[in-house]
Amino acid sequence: MKKLITILVPAYNEARNLPGLVDALSSLSDSIDTYDWEFLIVNDGSSDNTSDVLRSLREQDIRVNYINLSRNFGKESAMLAGLDYAKGDCVVIMDADLQHPVSAVPEMIKAWEEGYDDVYGKRKTRGKESWLRKKLSLLYYSLLQKTTRIDILPNVGDFRLLDRRCVDAVRELRETQRYTKGLFCWIGFKKKPVEFESLDRTEGKSTFNFLSLLGLAIEGITGFTISPLRIASLLGVVVSIVAFTYLIFVIFKTIFYGEPVQGYPTLLCVILFLGGCQLLAIGIIGEYIGRIFNETKRRPPYLVDSYNGSGR
Ligand code: UDP
Ligand code: MG
Repeated sequence: MKKLITILVPAYNEARNLPGLVDALSSLSDSIDTYDWEFLIVNDGSSDNTSDVLRSLREQDIRVNYINLSRNFGKESAMLAGLDYAKGDCVVIMDADLQHPVSAVPEMIKAWEEGYDDVYGKRKTRGKESWLRKKLSLLYYSLLQKTTRIDILPNVGDFRLLDRRCVDAVRELRETQRYTKGLFCWIGFKKKPVEFESLDRTEGKSTFNFLSLLGLAIEGITGFTISPLRIASLLGVVVSIVAFTYLIFVIFKTIFYGEPVQGYPTLLCVILFLGGCQLLAIGIIGEYIGRIFNETKRRPPYLVDSYNGSGR
């Protein structure tokens, strides 16, 4: 029996991109006929007519399977839904907007055949992005790499091929606040990069703006390391030592030289500085408490409305 490859595509308002994508995928599958194929598209609560498009794509091609989620849960949860429903011996995750070139898939499959479990796409260039955004993201990754013990790679997104073993491993990680990019690194297994040229979005525009990326960045840090808490405690220790030394100095100075009332600016600076440090530390603690709050509710990461058009 032939092995089955699942192409998993999370889609949010991608009605205009999906027909083109399925076309490209079906010509890919025609060129590699040593495998059976499944095109699994997760409709992440789109508000356009994505679900109608999916129904008609399914009517035209039996290899298309689709899940409609009950609302928009975000790409991270949509991917988990896809991994739960994928039947393949390996799963290739790609975006619906054709930014991930279908032409890179054969190379990924080749690496999989050689025995690699997690073949990840590595962007050669970051495409059209501002200088500041590029710099910030590089800085972020180096911070993440230094503070976590796992390698979270820069320029690597969700475009990747996962062996069944990796899929099952990721499915076991049921956290609600997901940073999938980090989870892929966390699971380990034999990894190999495949370089690809990131294309520009064909239709519509990216749903990730600066704020949502910042949210994801904080997610990445708080989900994988408690070093900010440690830095806060260290800062506390350093500030206390400095404050204590200064205290001794002030006491002795007053004893030996007296103290004319002065020093309002110094006092204000110290109070403001310490106040800032305290707020920062409370904020960091708050981030982690927020995570605990969200995880202890143990809500499912997504809810399915229907699979291939039939619910319940
Ligand atoms: N996506 C999703 N749910 C969302 C937002 C995005 O499933 O809430 C999908 C989207 O349809 C696309 C992929 O995630 O297939 C990447 O999204 P986008 O192209 O907007 O992001 P970017 O290319 O900027 O990373
Ligand atoms: Mg995109």
